[in-house]
Amino acid sequence: MKIKKDSVAAITYTLKNDAGEVLDSSVGKDSLYYLHGHGNLVIGLEDELESKAKGDKFSVAVPAEKGYGMADENLVQSVPLSAFGTNKVEVGMQFHADGPAGQVVVTVIEIAGDQVKIDGNHPLAGVTLHFDIVVDEVREATSEELAHGHVHGPGGHHH
Ligand code: ZN
Repeated sequence: MKIKKDSVAAITYTLKNDAGEVLDSSVGKDSLYYLHGHGNLVIGLEDELESKAKGDKFSVAVPAEKGYGMADENLVQSVPLSAFGTNKVEVGMQFHADGPAGQVVVTVIEIAGDQVKIDGNHPLAGVTLHFDIVVDEVREATSEELAHGHVHGPGGHHH
C-alpha cells in the first residue's frame, strides 16, 4: 500500500544541513513511526512521502518555509541573569519556557554582564533540511490512533 492521509508509516531518516553535516539520524536505531497527514512531520517531508511505498528510498531538500519556518528576530530577547535564579547559565543551554502558543524551547545564545540573550526560534528555523529517507513500513492507522492524532505501538507515543 501507498502512503496517504491516515496511513501509519515507518521511516529511516538522515537529516543534514546545507554543509552536509548530519544533524539527526535514525540509521541503526528504531524506525520513526508517524501518522501521515496530521502534521506529525514537517510539511515539506510529508508532501514527499505522499504515495511512497515500503522499500522506497529518496532524498529531498525541504526549504525552511516548509520545514521549521524562518527565524523570527522578535523571538530573540535579553533577560536579566537574575531571572534564572540560582541555575547555572551557559551559552548553548536550552530550557523550556511558557510562550504565547504554549511551551517553547529557548536557547541561550549570549551572556553579557548580567544580561542573557535568549532565542525562542526552533534550532532549525531558517535551515534547509536535507533528508535521506527509506520507507520501512506502511499500514492503516487504527481508529484510536486517528482519534489521538499520533501513532501507538512500536516507535509510537505513550498510551
Ligand atoms: Zn495516544
